[in-house]
Amino acid sequence: NRRWVLASRPVGEPVLENFRLDQQPIPEPQAGQLLLQTLYLSIDPYMRGRMSEAKSYAPPVALGEVMVGGTVSRVIASQHPDYAVGELVMAYTGWQEYALSDGNGLFHLGELAQPSLALGVLGMPGFTAYMGLLDIGQPQAGETVVVAAASGAVGAVVGQLAKLQGCRVVGIAGGAEKCRYVVEELGFDACLDHKAPELPARLAAACPQGIDVYFENVGGKVFDAVLPLLNAKARVPVCGLIAHYNATALPAGPDRLPLLAATLLKQRIRMQGFIIFDDYGHRYGEFLQQMGPWVAEGKIRFREDRVRGLEAAPQALIGVLRGENFGKCMVHLAD
Ligand code: NDP
Repeated sequence: NRRWVLASRPVGEPVLENFRLDQQPIPEPQAGQLLLQTLYLSIDPYMRGRMSEAKSYAPPVALGEVMVGGTVSRVIASQHPDYAVGELVMAYTGWQEYALSDGNGLFHLGELAQPSLALGVLGMPGFTAYMGLLDIGQPQAGETVVVAAASGAVGAVVGQLAKLQGCRVVGIAGGAEKCRYVVEELGFDACLDHKAPELPARLAAACPQGIDVYFENVGGKVFDAVLPLLNAKARVPVCGLIAHYNATALPAGPDRLPLLAATLLKQRIRMQGFIIFDDYGHRYGEFLQQMGPWVAEGKIRFREDRVRGLEAAPQALIGVLRGENFGKCMVHLAD
């Protein structure tokens, strides 16, 4: 059983030396247990947080322990009454080829036509987009919604859901190719490249009525461009701040906190953070009932960025934090 363990904690950007590939015998299930084989491993931005000792909503991965992560897995041996050999489940067994489970936290995937969707549009990122936008953002028809990391796992779903609500939707993404995809394939009204100059002026031009909902995935310069455009009573679901995950110091320039606080006050803005399964876990079934048909009918489109083989996992995570992924990033380990 090959597994990636955390070898050391990164300072700034993670490097390959922070991970170590080790090998253990494949474990045997005892009474009440089952053995899972990982087919797909999700690679997500939050994993950077688990590598760090800083206080967070979940404990860090200990040094020498297997990196955590969501998986689509197959039951290959079972001493558990609820799980049969051959069946597919959504699990959280991390960066390894095989794992034992007592059934806790597993989710039956049934006959899902494309099982990897359980890591993307029908899994944690899609659910995050759905709850963050609809429950916290509360977009109304005719309003302007802005989302960054717009071609990514969460952002792509946010924008498409906002279009289904009748909103004007402006994405922000890194590079012309991602922006073209967001407009032409996903149907956003516009998409701006945050790596090109003059983002604040281009964003103002793309949002002539201001911004009513800003779905925050990124922070940094993107948020600086958004802040002056927020309308009275705007809603800002704070989902992620990926531009800061590798930061080792405060950003350069003047302290922006007074400007943020004054804007919140004068514009009576509601800014709310959320952690998807902690806050909304009880609504996953409702999400699947809505989203399943939308995906099947092609109303919500998606893109996967698959890398092959467990060896590729560390570089894939480093790449996500650099914006190198194009679509939901995952490792394909086995069929
Ligand atoms: P993505 O698939 O969107 O991949 C991450 C993307 O972030 C990159 O491809 C890159 O896109 C963008 N990015 C990276 N660095 C920067 C930067 N400095 N400035 C601007 N953009 C940057 O990831 P997810 O959809 O999985 O996650 C999106 C966000 O949602 C993350 O912040 C994540 O932590 C958060 N999240 C929060 C959850 C919650 O429960 N609160 C649950 C799930 C995700 P580009 O090339 O377009 O810049």
